[in-house]
Amino acid sequence: MHDHELYQQILGLTAPWKVQAVRLELAPRRIEVQVQCTESTWACPQCQCRMHIQDWDQRRWRHLDSCEFQTLIVAKVPRVRCPEHGTLTVQVPWAEPYGRFTKRFERLAIDLLQECSIRAVCEGLRISWDEADGIKQRAVARGLLRKQTQPVRRLGVDEKSAGRGQNYVTVVANLEPGRSATVEYVGDGRTQETLEAYWQGRSPEHRAAVEAVAMDLWAPYFQATVQHVPEAARKIVHDPYHLSQMLGRAVDRVRRAEHRALSAAGDERLAGTKYVWLYGWENLPRPTRSASISCAGRNSRPVAPGRSRKCSATSGPARASRKGRSSSTRGTVGRSARAWAPSRRWPGASRSTWTIS
Ligand SMILES: [Zn+2]
Repeated sequence: MHDHELYQQILGLTAPWKVQAVRLELAPRRIEVQVQCTESTWACPQCQCRMHIQDWDQRRWRHLDSCEFQTLIVAKVPRVRCPEHGTLTVQVPWAEPYGRFTKRFERLAIDLLQECSIRAVCEGLRISWDEADGIKQRAVARGLLRKQTQPVRRLGVDEKSAGRGQNYVTVVANLEPGRSATVEYVGDGRTQETLEAYWQGRSPEHRAAVEAVAMDLWAPYFQATVQHVPEAARKIVHDPYHLSQMLGRAVDRVRRAEHRALSAAGDERLAGTKYVWLYGWENLPRPTRSASISCAGRNSRPVAPGRSRKCSATSGPARASRKGRSSSTRGTVGRSARAWAPSRRWPGASRSTWTIS
């Protein structure tokens, strides 16, 4: 099999397209596949009226590599002059109009973009950031063209940081059960107007069909939804994370106020108990339990010379609350806890030693 027959097969070209020649360039590690159109007439891309080809437009496209050799398709593409639609370049079967990559190359890039960072894709495919972004934008545009406007019953609204600094976009996601979540809308900023632009783009019937909208406690999203979705107040669902965060902050404010009042009277029973109040007992990290018990029991223990009564494990649970039960955090807290109370273990210690009544 000759090289041009090989590429005719692997490119899947059919008449009137035909591989005319294949050129190998060793130094730049490049293969150039020259494709020829054998027709003399062509249909106008707009009205499909058949007419003589007026002239040819030399084009080149990046295709999938051949054995790590960058592979380019080069072709003279017919142009027709339609009396109604003017001069137009016909569409080739292997690429999108005005594209610089073949469809198969863009398919590979999109698959990789879903798994890797843009930088990794650029390095792997040897394309620029702008080229990768262009491939992504075209894929989104094609997806939106195919997308059918249907009522969405369950939606999620959230902000996402974009770039550096306080730059955000608002993302509306379709959360219909039984299918993967898909992005419905992306708007610049996280203002009320940003989300209103989405609601205003939906028909009254579609807005009325909404059954539930999940969001955090960001007031502009709430206001935008209340203004545009009928009976929105009973359809908005705040996520448990932010609700429990609010409750946790309220509990902590009360604890601090109580601690200040008790401390003023010389009562330090609340010192070092911060995370005991913020965690459910079943979720309280074991090192924090030990540290809390040791803190609670320290009033009956002598303080080492030069050592503050402030519980040394306090900074440990603070990290534990952010990172969970990582081994490094566990080790830090565990050491501090053991230093304070090497022999006391829950539930051997009485809850009443630190439970505030
Ligand atoms: Zn036409």
